[in-house]
Amino acid sequence: MANNIFQTVLPESIEIVDAKGTIHEVKVSVKYTKQNLFKTKKMKLSIKHNAVVVAVSMRESNFNLLQLEKFWNLNQGWIKSVFSKRILLCHLPLAEKKVLSLLGEPFNIHLENRTDKRSYILDDGKCKAVYIFSRTQHFDRMLRRQLRELLYTSSLSIMNKFLKDIDIKTPVELKIAGFTSCWGNCQSNNMKIKISEVLVLAPRRVLEYVIAHEVSHLVHAHHQKDFWILVNSIYNEEERSVDDVKRWLKKCGDDLIVQWQN
Ligand SMILES: [Zn+2]
Repeated sequence: MANNIFQTVLPESIEIVDAKGTIHEVKVSVKYTKQNLFKTKKMKLSIKHNAVVVAVSMRESNFNLLQLEKFWNLNQGWIKSVFSKRILLCHLPLAEKKVLSLLGEPFNIHLENRTDKRSYILDDGKCKAVYIFSRTQHFDRMLRRQLRELLYTSSLSIMNKFLKDIDIKTPVELKIAGFTSCWGNCQSNNMKIKISEVLVLAPRRVLEYVIAHEVSHLVHAHHQKDFWILVNSIYNEEERSVDDVKRWLKKCGDDLIVQWQN
C-alpha cells in the first residue's frame, strides 16, 4: 500500500489553539509496520514529541480506508486534549522561566544584558543558580550551553563511577548530543557514549539509569537477559529501581522533550 493512499484520509497537520488564542501546528504522520503489534487492533495512535503518529499494521489484508477515517475521527478529542494540556504546561520558552529543575534540583535563572562577565552556574550547596551574561538575543543559546556543561560534568562523574564498578579500564569518550529520538547511545567498538542534552531537565536518577544502560552496552551489545542483569547490578539501589525509571521515562519523557524544544 502506498503512502499517499493514507494521506487522502488523514490531514498532514492539525491546528491546536491554546488559551491565549495562539494557533500551534501539529504534524500528522503515518507509520507502517509489518509486525502484528496490536493483536486485536489494526491501528494505533501515539503522540511523539510534537507530532501525532498513526501506526497501521500492514499484515491486515482486509484493511480499508474507511476504517482509518473512522478511527481518526473517533480520536480527535483525545489528541486535542493531550496537546492542549502540553501547550498550557510548556508555553514558556526555556530562557523565560524564572526557575528550572535541573537534574531534579531547582535552579534560579538570572539573565543580564551585558558582555563584560562570563556566564556560570552557581551550586555551593546552599544556593543554586544559572547566571547568563550576554546580549538579549543570545540568552537562550547561552543558557543551553551552560545546561550542556552542567550535564556533561555530572554525566562524566557518574559514568566514571560505573566504569570503575564494573572494572572497565579503557578510556570512554562521553558526548552530550542534540538528539531527541533516544536518551543515549553507545558505540562499543570505539568506546563512545552519547547522552541526550534533554536529560538535564530530568531527575538525577533518570540520568544515572541512562548512563548505566549505555555503560552496560560496552559489555553487551544487545538487550537480552545478560544485559539487564548488568544494568540492574550497576544501577539498582535500595531507594530506586530500573523499572521505576523506565516507568518515569514512559510517562514524563515526552514532556521533557517538549519543554526542551520550546
Ligand atoms: Zn540499549
